[in-house]
Amino acid sequence: MFPGIRRSLAFKLILAAAVPSAAALLLGLWGIINHSQKLARYAPERAFDELRQGAVIGALLTLTFAGIAVALAARHFLLKPIQALMLAMRRAEAGEILIRAKVGSDDELGQLAGSFNSMLAKVTDMAVAEIEQQQKLSLMERELVLQGELKQANAQLGEHAREMELVLEVSRSLSGTLDLREQLEELGRHTCLQLGVNDFSVLLIDETTQQLVIEAVAGKAPASARGMRFSIGEGVVGDAVARGQTVYVPDVDQDNRFLHYKGLQRSTGSFLAIPLQAKGRIVGVMNLSRPEVAAFRPQEIRIAEAIAAQAGLAIQNARLYAQMLELSYTDALTGVPNRRQLFQRLEQEWTRSLRFGDELSLLMVDLDRFKSINDQHGHPVGDIVLRSVALALKRNVRKVDTVARFGGEEFCIVLPRVTHTEALEVAEKLRRSVSQAPIEFATGEPPIFPTISIGVASYVPETADAAGLLERADHALYEAKRSGRNAVRSA
Ligand code: GH3
Ligand code: MG
Ligand code: MG
Repeated sequence: MFPGIRRSLAFKLILAAAVPSAAALLLGLWGIINHSQKLARYAPERAFDELRQGAVIGALLTLTFAGIAVALAARHFLLKPIQALMLAMRRAEAGEILIRAKVGSDDELGQLAGSFNSMLAKVTDMAVAEIEQQQKLSLMERELVLQGELKQANAQLGEHAREMELVLEVSRSLSGTLDLREQLEELGRHTCLQLGVNDFSVLLIDETTQQLVIEAVAGKAPASARGMRFSIGEGVVGDAVARGQTVYVPDVDQDNRFLHYKGLQRSTGSFLAIPLQAKGRIVGVMNLSRPEVAAFRPQEIRIAEAIAAQAGLAIQNARLYAQMLELSYTDALTGVPNRRQLFQRLEQEWTRSLRFGDELSLLMVDLDRFKSINDQHGHPVGDIVLRSVALALKRNVRKVDTVARFGGEEFCIVLPRVTHTEALEVAEKLRRSVSQAPIEFATGEPPIFPTISIGVASYVPETADAAGLLERADHALYEAKRSGRNAVRSA
């Protein structure tokens, strides 16, 4: 109705004080004037006096009333809203930014409360925005950290994949052959190429001497080092085997264990010796070197160790295979080649004779009255005799000759590039040496004097094939038996 009054605190105060005071004043004046007029009709002096007194008292009362009205209005319009606003301000100051002041009027205090509220609303908005910002920031930070971790993991994975590929490649090349020599050559070639190594060698343990023997070299390693022997514990390689763990020498000039191929070749740089193991047993040691000092990084050593693990297994497999092969071609009782190997050798020598016209002779050997030795002393003693005779035969021929067990108590000897006359001499020597070597089989027992009969045949162009040669030697043997045994006969 009166917007100007509603919005002004001063107006409100003035109105609140003035209106009741004015009303009281007017009412008082009307009463006094009325009273004075009535009194003036019969006592005009008294009426004037009372009017004057009434005016003074009325003025005083009106002033008092106005004062009370002002106090009440101030309390209602000023004090209470200010207190409420102050309380709200204090709570807001303490951090309760969601609090709002009560807007009870349109006046200046009401407007102040409204402004305070809108300021608080802005602060709230800002706080919310800041919280959101903070959350975004921490989210971004986490993402950054995760990204970093991901990158690192990726790099590691890539490196592992490369390592695996390398090891796989070496392992594939090793499994390509069961020939130990070929395997070691492949190992050297691949390791030099893939690991950027310029000097490579492999030493294997010689089971009989328990020494380390250089079996393969690659890169700049001296070829003449092949066959060089080291005791276990000798040099860096011997040390690696003795400890059963990788030995890394970052600078060979600073380590007096390094022997420079026993003085054969002076090297500089770094050297890595890794034991080769198979099923927990050390079979040898693999060595890598680079011309620079401290040239092997830890992960390269790890890769080299993985390659060595593969190589150790491959070497063991190749050795087992070679042993099996040897077993299948060797006679278990006497240790000389069996019939299968004999035929292979005989075929080879036969082909060579045909092609190059080389001489070739064959001896068929049979123990005389061997059955009676068995009967008299038992089968085990018969075995001892068989072994002793096989050994005597082997000892009395050349390395290139083949003494094989043909079956039972029969041996066959292939003599490449030996004429018939020479073969008869060899046979005679063998017969004599066996007959002159008594066999002691038990203490206190008289020795056995075995004898042998031998049939000799040699290659002649008319012979159809190797089997024909065998047949002729066998025939000659029959003749030797017929002649009374312990004899040599020519086909
Ligand atoms: P001859 O002089 O005519 O050759 O007479 P022999 O007794 O040697 O010939 P025979 O063929 O009658 O007997 C061969 C014996 O060899 C029979 C067999 O029991 C024995 N024998 C074959 N193989 C083995 C073996 O591995 N160990 C032993 N202890 N005896 C064997
Ligand atoms: Mg016999
Ligand atoms: Mg026989």
